[in-house]
Amino acid sequence: MEKLRVAVSGAFGRMGREVCRTVLDDDNLDLVGAFDSHGKENDIGLELGRRNLGIKIKELTPKSLEECRAKVLVDFTTPMSVLHNIDISLKSGVRPVVGTTGITHVDLTRISEWVDRSGLSAVIAPNFALGAVLMMTFSSIAVRYFPQAEIIEMHHDQKIDAPSGTALKTADMIASNRQEEPLEKDELLKLPGARGAVQDKIHIHSIRLNGLIAHQEVIFGGLGQTLTIRHDSYDRSSFMPGVILAVKKVPVIKGLVYGLENLLDLQI
Ligand code: NAP
Repeated sequence: MEKLRVAVSGAFGRMGREVCRTVLDDDNLDLVGAFDSHGKENDIGLELGRRNLGIKIKELTPKSLEECRAKVLVDFTTPMSVLHNIDISLKSGVRPVVGTTGITHVDLTRISEWVDRSGLSAVIAPNFALGAVLMMTFSSIAVRYFPQAEIIEMHHDQKIDAPSGTALKTADMIASNRQEEPLEKDELLKLPGARGAVQDKIHIHSIRLNGLIAHQEVIFGGLGQTLTIRHDSYDRSSFMPGVILAVKKVPVIKGLVYGLENLLDLQI
């Protein structure tokens, strides 16, 4: 069987490196391109502490992407560059699998149009950790019985966007499965922001600290009880099974799939 040709943008970054390693270790995948604005002209194999692979890190351009003849482009870059990268990918006939966060609802509508126009497919997932996807799914069930919910998301201090894409997606899933609106009341805020940010009447609190990787708690309040659903990623390897699943599925799906849960059989 021919190996699936995969390129990675953000290959010099923390997530990108992990993706490159995982692709190299998969018998059915072939790493054919590495793109980043850092480490240019360095061999990606040597960067990962492995043998020279003859794959130099390059700037992502239509030309450099077409030259590597990738079928799939995995993107773990920045909220500022991800839209441009998806555009390059689709215009070059390459299916994007995107983990970069900070993509808004408005962006998603635009991307979906681009994907349809290209006749290709794409996966965007704010969280590729299977446990996080289950945490979101369980939360969307819990809200049927506990309409009051708040989200606390905790990430390493290098993360630049807040709240996290996972928190926003969780709020989205909770709000669309809520059968009863939570009661709202006037609050006396002694410091602005004390109650966090609010999306769909759900308060989201973002914590950024050295030592953390990616963690989230969803706390539901009910009569005389709370229910906490928590997920922790202790290592970036936690995202890799989900990324590889998306890479292998993207050639056989249609249009834009947003959220890893839509690639899993999660009938609960
Ligand atoms: P990082 O270490 O800063 O890596 C991002 C890399 O991409 C940097 O080297 C960056 O360079 C580079 N880059 C920026 N623009 C680029 C472009 N146009 N083409 C190619 N490379 C470009 O960040 P990270 O920790 O790996 O995280 C990357 C993203 O993944 C973040 O948005 C993060 O929130 C997200 N993430 C998602 C998941 C998930 O499961 N979906 C899990 C973890 C992290 P510069 O420094 O020049 O910008």
